[in-house]
This record gives sequence, C-alpha cells and structure tokens, in this order.
Amino acid sequence: MPEANLRMTDYGDGITAIDTDLLRPYFDASHLVVENGRAAFIDCGVNDSVPLLLDALVSKNVDPADVDYLLLTHVHLDHAGGAGLLMKSLPNAKAVLHPRGAPHMIDPAKLIKGAQAVYGENEYFRQYGNIEAIPEARVVVAGHGEEFLLGGRVLQSIYTEGHARHHHCFYDAAAAAVFTGDSFGVSYRELDTDKGEFIFPTTTPVHFDPPEAHKAIDTIMGFEPRQLFLTHYSRITELQRLATDLHRRVDDFVKLVTRHADSENRTADVHASMYDYFIHEIREHGFTGGDHAIRDIIGKDVVLNTMGLEFWLDQQH
Ligand SMILES: [Zn+2]
Repeated sequence: MPEANLRMTDYGDGITAIDTDLLRPYFDASHLVVENGRAAFIDCGVNDSVPLLLDALVSKNVDPADVDYLLLTHVHLDHAGGAGLLMKSLPNAKAVLHPRGAPHMIDPAKLIKGAQAVYGENEYFRQYGNIEAIPEARVVVAGHGEEFLLGGRVLQSIYTEGHARHHHCFYDAAAAAVFTGDSFGVSYRELDTDKGEFIFPTTTPVHFDPPEAHKAIDTIMGFEPRQLFLTHYSRITELQRLATDLHRRVDDFVKLVTRHADSENRTADVHASMYDYFIHEIREHGFTGGDHAIRDIIGKDVVLNTMGLEFWLDQQH
C-alpha cells in the first residue's frame, strides 16, 4: 500500500511530480519521466523521501529495475540528499551528475560539511540524516549537451551556472520541457493567483553569480520550451512573463544586498528588506493570504537568499 502522504501530480507526456515531503507539502519535488516502460527520476529529495519515490513507482506500475537514470540537477541536499539511499533500490540505474557535482556524491564528506555550515548541525541532521555515497561505478558524468536515451526519448544535459557551479538542467524535446532544478528560480504553487504564477531567484550560498544567473534563464528559454519543471515546485507555463520577472528579480536582489553593503547589522537589514520586498511583490501579484502566510511560505528562502547574497557581496571588491 502506498503511504498516505504520497502526493503526486500527473502532467501528461509521461511526467509526474512527486512531493518529496521535505519541510512542508509542495515545497520540494522529484520528477518521474516514463517512456516505453523505462523510467528516470530527476532530483530525489532527501533520505526520508525515498519510500515515497518507491511508492510512486508502484502506483505507476514501474518496476524499480526499469529505472534507467537518476538525473541530479545539482548536489544541494534538497535535490540529491537521498540519492545514495535511493540508488540502493534501483538496481539498474545510473546516477547522472555534473562533473563538478559527481565527486561530492561519490564522497559526500565535503557536501555534509558545507551543508552543516549553512544549516547548523542540528537542523542539518533533522532534515538530511546520514548522506550515503553513490558507488563510483554507478555514476555517469554528463558533458554539456550530452544526450541520455530513455526508452527512445532523449533527455539532454545542459550546463547552467548562476545558482550553483555544479548545476545542469535536462532538456526533454518530446515534452518541449526543461527540468530546471534551481536554475529558473522557485515558484511555489501556494502563490498562484488570478495573475498566474509567481517566481523568484534562489541565491543560496556559495555560488550565486548574477551574470551567470541571467545567462541560465536565457539558455533555458532558448529551447523555446512549452513548460518548465522546477524542483520548487513543479510545472510553470507562463514562461515569457516569468523569465522577465526572474531577470528583474535577480537584479533587484543584487541591488537590495548592495544597498546594505556598509550596514552594521547587515544580515538583519537584508532580511528585513527582503521580507518587505517579497510582501510588496506578492501582494501586488494579488495574493490574499496575508503577510503571515507570506512569511510562512518564503521564510526559509529569505534566510538562504540573504546568506548567498552576502557571500556574493563579500567576494566583490
Ligand atoms: Zn540548489
């Protein structure tokens, strides 16, 4: 019996979003692509997500032995934390990784240290548990533009920096889709209104790079996709407008942190300004849930975005 908290959404084209149940409902997605009886996961959440992903296979009538790939957009733990554990249940799957990410899944020691630095040790263990390594023989390092065949369907690795230097997206021509990881920002379904989808960049430490973030948006839009699948959270379709909003908000975030460059209480000031920014923009977007609800939805992002923006600022001269 599938677990009660299995939340899946089918989008056609053999694409299903599976809620990894990290932090809150509809925060973090894994995507399952099924073609001619073969399957691939794109991102996988954390260790606690693994039973849900296996339940999703049951409900899709896919045998774990028929999963050919675990495609990992990057090695941030909300995307790849459960990868080592999941691979143990997928006997024939290869884990496809960016060359800069692969070493950290084969030996996760640095990844764990980095995540503990960002989240603090207690929070880290609560969210991620013990990160398991992926045996090197089961890792495929993807080149830029490299094609992976899934039951005859092509999934293509596309390097996109800006969010992380170890990030790639997967272009799916059959569905006119790109699985964007964190390279096309974050768009929570709770913030959908009559005006449509709301999007903003995720500037998590330690690789945020504004010019590259802009370039990644353009690279993704260059495929003329009909739909994008974000890890946070799943499908968006108003792509021209969202690309414009995302470009503007990358610039807005850079201006926001730069404005507080010489502040004595910089972190607190950036936090406060970012909250004000979000509340203003989300209200303008027609969200009627109130400021408290907005804070609940974007609170974690404000903390991580602030950290990443300050880190970026400190690298500038
Ligand atoms: Zn990330």
